[in-house]
Amino acid sequence: MLDVLNWAVWVKDLKKRYGNVKAVDGISFGVSPGEVFGMLGPNGAGKTTTIEIVLGLRTADSGDVRILGMTHAENHRRIASAIGAQLQTTGMYPAHTVREMIQLFADFYPEAAPVDELMDMVGLREKAGALVKNLSGGQRQRLAIAIALVNRPSVVFLDEPTTGLDPQARRALWDLILSLKASGTTVLLTTHYMEEAEQLCDRVAIVDRGRIVEMDSPAALINKYFKHIAIEFEAPPGAEVDTDKLRSLQGVGNVVVDGRKVTLYSSDVPATMSSLLDVASHALRHMVVRQATLEDVFLKITGRSMRQ
Ligand code: ADP
Repeated sequence: MLDVLNWAVWVKDLKKRYGNVKAVDGISFGVSPGEVFGMLGPNGAGKTTTIEIVLGLRTADSGDVRILGMTHAENHRRIASAIGAQLQTTGMYPAHTVREMIQLFADFYPEAAPVDELMDMVGLREKAGALVKNLSGGQRQRLAIAIALVNRPSVVFLDEPTTGLDPQARRALWDLILSLKASGTTVLLTTHYMEEAEQLCDRVAIVDRGRIVEMDSPAALINKYFKHIAIEFEAPPGAEVDTDKLRSLQGVGNVVVDGRKVTLYSSDVPATMSSLLDVASHALRHMVVRQATLEDVFLKITGRSMRQ
């Protein structure tokens, strides 16, 4: 176990209310140096509030935060020079070029990374002269990350870095985050994409309603909750979904019904399939057999799907 001072980011019992809303309701976690740590949860779970408190941009009602062992109260400037943040609100000047925008931020730091190097890192060198307003969503996100990296930070915060991006732009950003990790940078990111957390994160905290409901590596979480294979299908409109009957099928460990979507978690797929086909009075539509994912873990823990 790391000492408080050795965690890259350490958060203890953080709480923040907005009126009656407990946006953050007792969140504690530590991110070790060089780790990619994800906060995963649906909209409104409290991820942005947490990250902005950790960054010292909002004040908590109670709780402690340390970054590289330091508190904002005592070492705000040293923290600021050691970290980089890409927030949903990162400001941009639409009539500046990519190069000008990065230079503007680089000028704040005596030890800033060269602008060309930053553009190469985020794959924007050929867009150096393009105006910010003409960039695609993915390019703009990469520019925001380049800005977060100007001071060569050892800890980087990314708040929903890929929200709203197409799959290709998302993959490009994943590669960028993995290259940060390879260079030893600590990354704390928030996301509501399960796949993103599975691909990138060494550990994830699953956040729901201001609390961390589980925290571990994606593989350990899937293994803990699901040693089973998922059999998924859609119940035909009008057909009654008899959960008890489904649960009694051979090999079935758990059944989750989400609207018309039915998921059976089975330890013996052939046996479950044959007994399912015996009892199914209608054709089963869109049937898929797949490994369990973090989405299944979230559904099992919270009883709700991430998209609700
Ligand atoms: P997430 O980042 O997981 O989507 P947020 O931290 O943005 O979640 O929000 C958590 C909760 O706090 C939500 O219910 C949200 O509406 C509320 N909230 C966030 N910021 C404010 C604010 N400035 N004023 C009032 N309520 C807020």
